[in-house]
Amino acid sequence: MTGFTVRPEPVQVPGLVHLHTGKVRDLYRDKDGQLVMVASDRISVYDWVLPTGIPDKGRILTRLSLWWFEQLADLAPNHVISTEVPEGAPADWEGRTLICRRLDMVPVEAVARGYLTGSGLTEYQESRTVCGLALPEGLEDGSELPAPIFTPATKADVGDHDENVSYEHVARKVGADTAAALRQLTLSLYGRARDIARDRGIILADTKFEFGFAADAPEEELSAEGPTLVLADEVLTPDSSRFWPAEEWKPGRAQASFDKQYLRDYLRSRWDPNGEQAPPEMPADIVERTRAKYVEAYERLTGKDF
Ligand code: ATP
Ligand code: MG
Repeated sequence: MTGFTVRPEPVQVPGLVHLHTGKVRDLYRDKDGQLVMVASDRISVYDWVLPTGIPDKGRILTRLSLWWFEQLADLAPNHVISTEVPEGAPADWEGRTLICRRLDMVPVEAVARGYLTGSGLTEYQESRTVCGLALPEGLEDGSELPAPIFTPATKADVGDHDENVSYEHVARKVGADTAAALRQLTLSLYGRARDIARDRGIILADTKFEFGFAADAPEEELSAEGPTLVLADEVLTPDSSRFWPAEEWKPGRAQASFDKQYLRDYLRSRWDPNGEQAPPEMPADIVERTRAKYVEAYERLTGKDF
């Protein structure tokens, strides 16, 4: 069950059409038909949006996503056009706005996993497989996999969890060529990012990419087989990925989350994520320590000051 404590009203900006409000981001379409993605400071834990935001979180994640797009640019074209704030938008949008090419999205969550946890672990414990892929015996929560695997999922309706599906299911849904390209790209992007993160003491346990096709793809995105996949959405942020501090990694238990551990620890004794009750407000020190973790993740990964 996805919970919202406060579903925010979309901001009205002349010339922009509001398209969607996600847990964390608000999407608009501008006059030129481009996508405007605005990352808020909202934070979700166990699929609930907390009543208290984390100051600057949207800016930190936007900057991190942009940095990753650059690191991956030779592996995949991406949807970013600019970081310009549309005229008439609130000043607060500065630094949290991405203007993107609006793509025809491939309806698959392209997940790569290098470690076993979450829904992958649940399936493994039932059948020794993840998304139908057989895995060796003896793996535990947090174990590194023999090699990274492509574990696609399909987007569920609002309020539901995404559903893991087999590669064959993806191939039937989007065609064999697109499925093969999705898998190959997802694994190569994950491999690059995992190595970068590992060098900085951070384990990238898994991550989710989204891809689309551009209707009017430029020359360099056309291959003999047609248009190539364009990397979209946000990439390799703590909202789309599991980051673990490498020094605390220990298979056989739930791993510490790089960004949300203080929140989880605080909430655990006070609130049941599977119940009907909305989560409580966060005290200022938990908010401040969580903000510091986002800044640290950004600075450790990119080597830059926020
Ligand atoms: P959640 O809050 O659980 O993530 P959500 O996925 O509905 O819910 P967002 O992630 O904020 O909310 O929504 C982003 C949406 O924009 C997704 O549906 C994504 O597929 C889509 N999207 C991302 N990049 C592009 C693009 N370049 N063109 C078209 N759609 C895009
Ligand atoms: Mg999303």
